[in-house]
Amino acid sequence: MILVLLGPPGAGKGTQCKRIIEKYELVHLSSGDLLRSQRAAGTELGKKAQEYMDSGQLVPDRVIIDMMAGAIASAGGNCVLDGFPRTVVQAQELDKELTGKGQKIDAVVNLVVDDAVVEGRMTGRRSCPACGAVYHIDTLKPKAEGFCDKCPKQELVQRPDDKPEVVKQRLVTYHQQTSAVVGYYSKSGQKVLDINADGPIDDITAEIFAKLDSLAAAG
Ligand code: ADP
Ligand code: AMP
Repeated sequence: MILVLLGPPGAGKGTQCKRIIEKYELVHLSSGDLLRSQRAAGTELGKKAQEYMDSGQLVPDRVIIDMMAGAIASAGGNCVLDGFPRTVVQAQELDKELTGKGQKIDAVVNLVVDDAVVEGRMTGRRSCPACGAVYHIDTLKPKAEGFCDKCPKQELVQRPDDKPEVVKQRLVTYHQQTSAVVGYYSKSGQKVLDINADGPIDDITAEIFAKLDSLAAAG
């Protein structure tokens, strides 16, 4: 099964993906996480991506498409895509790539939430540099303030692109380049499941599971 999870930055894609992969036994492929690993490893790809990421711009399509095509192939076609595709060109290239392999997207899950809400989610997001766990200073607090629950003594950090000035630019980028991807999938006859992502994490998960299950039941 291949799922695509869409929504603005900070909508809760990563948070929901962790739950989706457990229930449906999928591999979580986050383009943002893959880029951050490349940066941490100091690869050419990571160096190329750095400037775009830190200024809230999108990394060029070709770089992303090649990286994600490789990751999808490694996942054996059972994955949930988080943060990709982020342009219509990426969506078209993904379709071509999957068609060529006899695969297809089973459903597109679209997290719908206002800019004001996601701004607060991004600026309050903190993550563990060791294990990647994600917290929020108000809505998902760690047990000891500023430290990871799973990695003792590990201080949580704020992503450089979650600083307020970059967050503003990322939302502009989303509206200019990424929001059109939802329309692309609707027009191409894809099942787009709109989810109200403004509410408690558990309620959003329940809505995603219910809609995915009824889609599967309908065959
Ligand atoms: P994305 O992957 O879409 O950028 P994340 O899953 O990292 O978003 O979530 C962004 C921030 O918002 C994180 O700090 C997360 O803990 C928090 N968060 C996610 N979903 C919710 C929610 N439904 N309500 C409140 N906070 C949330
Ligand atoms: P994310 O972790 O999904 O919020 O992504 C962080 C940053 O990585 C984005 O602001 C972009 O600079 C870059 N990025 C992630 N995914 C993509 C993509 N599909 N296309 C272009 N750039 C991306």
